[in-house]
Amino acid sequence: MRGMDVNVEGYVHSVETGGAVDGPGLRFVVFLTGCALRCLYCHNPDTWHMPDGKKTGVASLLNEIAEYRDFLQRTGGGVTVTGGEPLAQPEFVTALFQGCKALGLHTALDTSGFLGANATDALLAATDLVLLDIKSFGPETYKRLTGGNLAPTLRFAERLSAMGRPVWLRYVLVPGVTDDLKSIEALAAYASRLGMAKVEVLPFHKMGESKWEALDLPYTLKNTQPPSAALVAKVKDIFVGHGLKTV
Ligand code: SF4
Repeated sequence: MRGMDVNVEGYVHSVETGGAVDGPGLRFVVFLTGCALRCLYCHNPDTWHMPDGKKTGVASLLNEIAEYRDFLQRTGGGVTVTGGEPLAQPEFVTALFQGCKALGLHTALDTSGFLGANATDALLAATDLVLLDIKSFGPETYKRLTGGNLAPTLRFAERLSAMGRPVWLRYVLVPGVTDDLKSIEALAAYASRLGMAKVEVLPFHKMGESKWEALDLPYTLKNTQPPSAALVAKVKDIFVGHGLKTV
């Protein structure tokens, strides 16, 4: 593809083939290292530091992806980049997605949007779908939950909307942290106004806890339980009530 740089290298934590939860169809999922946030429920704290990843050339990763092309295409799937925070390595994501498009593969970017300013128009032009994690719609809760500010994510969401890029909103429902129904109502209205295509409500679970322990990090959600099925249904209803489809 014109302008594509196959010499770019990035820091990759791992890859997974056949992922079924990060975008449509079956996905080749690339986990990159590096993240500026510190979400209390992070499943992958082992991806936080970029140099902990394996330095990988985009060309070799594309060769690996090419082996799965037919399989991914048959399932209506493609390639998803997650992490960590993929926008910590925007040049790598740009080259990788441009290469995927040259292979005829659908591309999805799973991001918190906190580093949305790093996403160039070229990167977004090669991105078919953004899985945007808006972790809370309340600036104070966002700060408490992630250590960062909400505003950059909202600026990114508004830019994607203005560009007409397809977005699926992701919302992790954590009892006692992100279960304020008024805030969810306001987020649903916002997502609807921005024309987001779908919303995925993800019930909090403690899958990452053992990784926190292994890294000797304090896991403060130890006593937090997953949300009840009734609460998850109620939150989904709020989004549906604003005209959004749930995944
Ligand atoms: S943005 Fe993602 S990778 Fe970064 S701390 Fe939060 S959950 Fe973990």
